Amino acid sequence: MIGATRGLNPLFAADNNDITMPMTADYNREDVELDALYRDTVLDHYRSPRGRKTLDRVDLSRDGHNPLCGDRLTLSLKLSGDKIADVAVKGNGCAISIASASMLAEMLPGMTRGDAQRLAEIFRQMMHGHPAPAGVDVGDLDSLEGVRQFPVRIKCALLAWMTLVDVLRQADSGTAETSITVTENDGEVV
Ligand code: ZN
Repeated sequence: MIGATRGLNPLFAADNNDITMPMTADYNREDVELDALYRDTVLDHYRSPRGRKTLDRVDLSRDGHNPLCGDRLTLSLKLSGDKIADVAVKGNGCAISIASASMLAEMLPGMTRGDAQRLAEIFRQMMHGHPAPAGVDVGDLDSLEGVRQFPVRIKCALLAWMTLVDVLRQADSGTAETSITVTENDGEVV
């Protein structure tokens, strides 16, 4: 009888509504994020990151830093004409930043610099809720779409890609800076 009474009483229903509390409580927030973010594909890239190697020749290199999370990486590119021949990534960071950089290292070899810049922009748009255009192969990047639910982690997912955009822009303009720090505005450089 008590159970039936509770079920009909909106006050009890409200009391029982505390199943939503862990969503905002700090002690459980990381668990919720893990569930939402660390899909099999992401975990695979995190555990076996591509591009963890030393290139026989480095044509372009850039450090990236995400101070919000502490992610740091060094992106190195070997070029062949207008194409990216090979990619190396070194650094430390959270699973999201490492997985995203691994996806970059997997996808870029063989792409032209222009196509790589376009893919980076498409991924940035994806992280802000805009689906990739039809016919564009985004590889494993769609497995990171859950990151959008946690805005502070978007910087983690974008770090490698914004570092890529920056090093290519630097090469195009002939400047010689050596690092970027992602800011509150994705893709802007300080
Ligand atoms: Zn991170």
